[in-house]
Amino acid sequence: MKHIFKILRPQLLFLALLTLAANASAKLNVVVTTADLASIAAEVGGDAIAVTTLAKPTEDPHFVDARPSFIVKLNHADVVIEGGAELEIGWLPALLDQSRNDKLVTGAPGHVNCSQGVPLLDVPATLDRARGDVHAAGNPHYIIAPSNAKIVAQNIAASLAIVDPPHAALYTANAEKFRAALDAKLIEWQKTLAPFKGRSLVAYHDSWPYFAREFGLTIDLFLEPKPGIPPTPAHLAEVIMKMKTENASVIIVDPYLNRRTAETVARTTGATVLDVTQFPGGLKGTEGGYLALLDHLVNSLATALAEKK
Ligand SMILES: [Zn+2]
Repeated sequence: MKHIFKILRPQLLFLALLTLAANASAKLNVVVTTADLASIAAEVGGDAIAVTTLAKPTEDPHFVDARPSFIVKLNHADVVIEGGAELEIGWLPALLDQSRNDKLVTGAPGHVNCSQGVPLLDVPATLDRARGDVHAAGNPHYIIAPSNAKIVAQNIAASLAIVDPPHAALYTANAEKFRAALDAKLIEWQKTLAPFKGRSLVAYHDSWPYFAREFGLTIDLFLEPKPGIPPTPAHLAEVIMKMKTENASVIIVDPYLNRRTAETVARTTGATVLDVTQFPGGLKGTEGGYLALLDHLVNSLATALAEKK
């Protein structure tokens, strides 16, 4: 008997190690473009997936610094998740080409375009990128609206279920859980912003139409003359005039934009500059994920708007 144990023990240990290795590699390797998608993917995938994010949360999602390591990450991925609507068109397609990963080609279940089924705003009648407009296919900043985050979770769950059928039920259940958590929080967020319905804000970049619509705010003055085109003195003079007529007294700026331009406009008009982000980890206090991000955004907007009547 003792003899058998002596033989079996190393074999059992080996088997145990094998199982551990199998479990570790059994996690679906998911690469996402931005931190908001990383948070939603983690909610949906739970322990069944490992998430790698390409863009830093403080980076402009239109102009991500494409490092060679991204190609390696994409080459090893089972799934890539992008926002789509041309948000990542300036950097992702070239990386995907170079990664030579058949699982991630457009149309494959391993390539998730989260904008599917999202009613996009500002879709122009004709495509025109000639003047450097980075929103040529419609406004791609839709995830910051909770109603769209629910569609994103749904899209991710549906694709993961196809790529990884044994965990299909888990992905569906997790997406449903995320949806319920969002619905509960949405009531709270609506209540916090209700006193400011109809108020006008200025944004540096036109990335807030979905959020504005969801919460009854007006965000239609921008320091950029066109999305992706730097502010000019003539355009800023026009914005300053309109700020007076619209009584807009808060300018929101993302971490990767030129805060000093916003400060100059604020000095001229008596407005406040408010730092905002659409990405978990983009500002201190938003690291907890999508829900923490919305908490931070809604509360800091409410505070700034209450101070500036
Ligand atoms: Zn944009």
